[in-house]
Amino acid sequence: MHVHAILKTKSASRKGPAVVTADPKATLAEVARSLADNNIGAVVVTTTDGRVAGIFSERDIVRHVAKSGAAALDKPVADLMTKAVITCTAEDSIDAVMTKMTRGRFRHVPVIGADARLVGLVSIGDVVKHHVEEIEHEATALRDYITQPH
Ligand code: AMP
Repeated sequence: MHVHAILKTKSASRKGPAVVTADPKATLAEVARSLADNNIGAVVVTTTDGRVAGIFSERDIVRHVAKSGAAALDKPVADLMTKAVITCTAEDSIDAVMTKMTRGRFRHVPVIGADARLVGLVSIGDVVKHHVEEIEHEATALRDYITQPH
């Protein structure tokens, strides 16, 4: 199974934009508000032409507030975001994305299109949900096979 299967189910159930993004000049306070308002764990920081400049997650907020106190909240996200972003494409396998998350110890992977623009985001929650659904389908198919007369 590939990443586009996850993007498809997400776009069917989503009310807002494909990915919640932040301007590089947004402050940490603004990003924190966006994470809370959208009930998400990370924003992708994008340039005006829609390219990925960085990623910033709730874990980064905790880290920077612990280090600098409330003063961190006035800083622009561009100064504190993770710039070396690991991305994937819609054609990548979900297993490959899971491996990236496990190896990198992060829970969000932006999905990039052919023109290097952001087309989606896969979270660990999406991957787990997909996995559980796959296992449930398999169990149903096996149960049907066992119970049908041969
Ligand atoms: P997360 O587990 O997604 O909350 O992120 C944990 C840490 O990894 C934070 O410092 C994030 O900025 C960073 N991070 C999250 N996603 C990625 C990614 N796809 N590529 C690189 N770093 C990331």
